[in-house]
Order: sequence, then structure tokens, then C-alpha cells
Amino acid sequence: MTAIAEPQLTSRVRDFVSTDRKMLIGGEWVDAASGKTFTTYDPATTAPITDVAHGDASDVDRAVRAARKAFDDGHWARMKPNERERLLWRVGDLLSERAEEFGQLEALDNGKSAGIAAAVDTQWSADIFRYNAGLATKIFGSTVNVSMPFVPGGEFHAYTLRDPVGVCGLIVPWNFPLLMASFKLAPALAAGNTVILKPAEQTPLTALLLGEVFEEAGFPPGVVNIVTGFGDAGAALSAHPDVDKIAFTGSTEVGKKIVAAAQGNLKKVSLELGGKSPNIVFADADFEQAVAGSVAAWMFNHGQCCVAGTRLFVERPIFDDFTAAVAEAASKAKIGPGLDPTTELGPLISQEQFDKVSGYLAQGLADGARALTGGKRWGTEGYFIEPTVFVDVEPSFSIVEEEIFGPVVAAMPFDGDDVVSAANNSIYGLAAGIWTKDLSKAHKIARRIKAGSVWVNQYNGFDTAMPFGGYKQSGWGRELGSSAIDLYTETKSVNIAL
Ligand code: NAP
Ligand code: MG
Repeated sequence: MTAIAEPQLTSRVRDFVSTDRKMLIGGEWVDAASGKTFTTYDPATTAPITDVAHGDASDVDRAVRAARKAFDDGHWARMKPNERERLLWRVGDLLSERAEEFGQLEALDNGKSAGIAAAVDTQWSADIFRYNAGLATKIFGSTVNVSMPFVPGGEFHAYTLRDPVGVCGLIVPWNFPLLMASFKLAPALAAGNTVILKPAEQTPLTALLLGEVFEEAGFPPGVVNIVTGFGDAGAALSAHPDVDKIAFTGSTEVGKKIVAAAQGNLKKVSLELGGKSPNIVFADADFEQAVAGSVAAWMFNHGQCCVAGTRLFVERPIFDDFTAAVAEAASKAKIGPGLDPTTELGPLISQEQFDKVSGYLAQGLADGARALTGGKRWGTEGYFIEPTVFVDVEPSFSIVEEEIFGPVVAAMPFDGDDVVSAANNSIYGLAAGIWTKDLSKAHKIARRIKAGSVWVNQYNGFDTAMPFGGYKQSGWGRELGSSAIDLYTETKSVNIAL
């Protein structure tokens, strides 16, 4: 397969895509057992980038056996927490050092800006590895002052231990390929688990480069396994009887399939799923700041964000002016490929997503919505969609109810407090934005919003130390923060009669 010869690519990236890429199983770079490969494409041009091993259920099984062996009796099983700490810290440092390379590869495979992929996706991933490196030595049980009323006169020493869950399957999507993998890998490894990572079929490349980083950092064989493939590989991992836990980010639809597949051995499941997040702008907000923040809320990553603030609620007195300003700012975004440093809005990931988003645009217009800007394809090549601001919408329209995963926002006016019930009127509950100068009002509304993250006078206010996850059908469990360790540990109670 021919490699892409973009002139701006570093030689390391060019080398990486100039050969077919293998999977990482048990410390070896291997072909799929079937010998099959699949092609990964540049969404800005639809040109092929390189071919990748096409793993299926038999490769998943091989990887699970390697992970089990490393968990039960390898060097990893005996490794001290401070050694895990050093290895994870090294991964963070290597990611930081190689951020340009990771950024370019992510831009090529996903379409996002190479600069943002280096500065945000990669450097934040590095931060997550370092944060969790620190946690590896701070996983505590507790001593418990037990009463044991049925054993009069007895004396006891009781305590809890936190054990790693075991073999963890990590299934991630294409919108933040490296970052979503890091959200899961770092706490899973800090807690002492072994893992099988299944990247999305659209974006396997940075996961494979990360595999090289794990090797370079000195991780023992079988601790981190990477199986590239399609949904059937993810399904095989979710159903595998020797996998103890699945951590998944992706669509609510596939999340439900994973829950069903996990029933066989009742493996633990954590899910980070879709959203249709409300972004609420009060008339007393700083107008300019709220416009800029509200545009970023739904346009960042070309709208391909689970937290995208795609239901824009604007207090009625400023509705017309505010939506006009949002539409004007959005229409000025420079559209282009992610490898062009001036690009602000890149392509969607695939033909499938392009068709899906185009379908929503057509449906919105057919339902009677009005596009203040956008509403159609941009250019003639690649999967580009114009940023689109819809007004004159009803809560029942599909563009208001459903996750579109493209640069499309539906704006609705509101009067006073009725905005809370409108904002909560969704099957999802992932995130919300509130813009106001009245902090008392912001606190009150933040309490009543049913969402895992609420951002006031900002949007996408993520931090490694802040738990992240969803209410309702947006998921189970919380990633990031120190409590992410809870997703990857079991609590054991030990009670000793003295
Ligand atoms: P998806 O189907 O949920 O894919 C996410 C991951 O799950 C991928 O690695 C996928 O592999 C894998 N997978 C697919 N079917 C599976 C199964 N039955 N069992 C286990 N794993 C399985 O997401 P998508 O198809 O890429 O995107 C569809 C929609 O999901 C988007 O339009 C968007 O609305 C939503 N989405 C949400 C998020 C989020 O962060 N919440 C992220 C991405 C997409 P393959 O890639 O090989 O299919
Ligand atoms: Mg898919």
C-alpha cells in the first residue's frame, strides 16, 4: 500500500505509514491469524494511508491469553507499585517528547488539526499517564474497627485491600483515538491490570504507535496488547469468558450491546456514551465570551465530541442577536485538512458519518428548521460539512433530540427557570454549559442539571483530576480523577480473629 507523502510530515511519521502495521500481542508485533489486513484512510482526501492487521475473534483470544498469563504469573504480577509508577511516568514523558509525531499521525488518520492533536490530545494524554503514575503508589485500603456482635469477647483485626480486576478490554472510538485510549490505559495499568486495547477501525494508527511507546518504556510482554479490527473484534472481547472488565467509549447503541455481551461471565462494565448536551446562555452573560465559548462548545473537533453543546438555549431577550453572532463566528471558521496549520474546522471521519450528518441536515430543513448559516457540504472532496446553526426548531425534531456528531447546533429561546426542565429533557446526561454573571444563579442551576459535568462561563472545562462520565444513557462510572482507580479495582475485606 502506498504511503501518503504529505510534505509536512516528519520522517518518523512517513516511516510509520510506509509499511503495513501489525498488532501487538504478548510482546510481539504480529499479523492477524487470518492474514487479513484492512486499509485506513485520510478523511480530508479519502486517500489510503496504510494497511493494518485485521484482527478477529481468534486474535482477541490470543491477546486475552497473553494478558491472562502476564496478569497471573509474569513479571508484572510481582511488580511493585513504585515500578509501575516509573513505567507510567516514562510513557507520559515519551508522549510529550513525541507529541509532534503523534499529532501528525492523529491528524492524518482522524482529520483533526495536527497542532491540536499534539498540544491537546497528546500532551493531555501524557498528563493523564503522569497523574496515574502517581496514583499507582496511592491505592489504599483501610483498617476497619469491626464490632462482630455475635462473637462476644473476640478480638479482630479487619482491613480492606484493593486488588486489580484482572484482564481488561478497552474499546475506544475514533473521535479522540489516543486520548480515549489514555483515559482507560493509565488507571487500568496503575492499578496493576493487564489490557487488550481495541481501537476504532477508522483510527488504528496512534494506538499502534502508543504500543511502541509502551515497549520503549519497558512494559513486560503481554501487559498491553493491541488488537486492530472491526466491531466483531470488540464484540468478541466483550463476550470473552476470560475478560474481567470492559471499559468502553462510543455510541449508546453499542454500549447496550456490550452490556448484553458481558452477561455471560458478568464481567464489570464501565461506559462513556453519547450526549446531546445543553448549553444555556442567560441574558446577563458576557456576550462576547459566551459567543466564543458557545461556538467552541459544538464546533470543537468538528462536532465529533460526546460532550458537544449542541442544544443551545438562549434567554429570549438576546436570542436573535446571540444566534446571529454565533452563526457569523461559525461561518468564518477556516475549513481544511488537519495537516494545514491554519485549519479551524476539519473533515468528518468517514463516508458513513458524512452521510449520517447530511441526513440530519436534510431532515432538519424538511421539519421546518431554518439554517442561519451552513446546512450543506463544503467543497467537493473529503468529508467536510459547513458549520450549521439551526433556529425555529421544536424539541421533537430529530436534530434536537438525537446525537448528530457533526458541526451542527440547534438554538432555542427560553424564559427564566423553565430552561432547566427543557435542558434535562433528554435521554442523555453527559455535560452542560451555563453562561451568566450571576454566580448564585449558576450554582442553583448546576445543582438541578442532570449531567456528569457542568461548566460555568466556559465549555469543555476538562481536567485530569476531575471525574468525567454520564447520567442516564450517557454511561456508567466516572473516568479521570483519582476515583478512576475504582473502575479497575476490586475491594477485598479481610477479617482476622486474633
Ligand atoms: P461505535 O460503533 O460505538 O464504535 C466505538 C467502538 O466500539 C469502536 O472501536 C467499534 O469498532 C467498537 N464496536 C463496534 N461494534 C461493537 C460491538 N458490537 N461490540 C463491541 N465493540 C464494538 O461508534 P461509531 O460507529 O464509530 O460511531 C457511531 C456513533 O456513535 C456516532 O455517530 C456518534 O453518535 C457516536 N459516538 C460517540 C462517541 C462518544 O465519545 N460518546 C464516540 C464515537 C462515536 P469499529 O470501529 O470497528 O466499529
Ligand atoms: Mg462503527
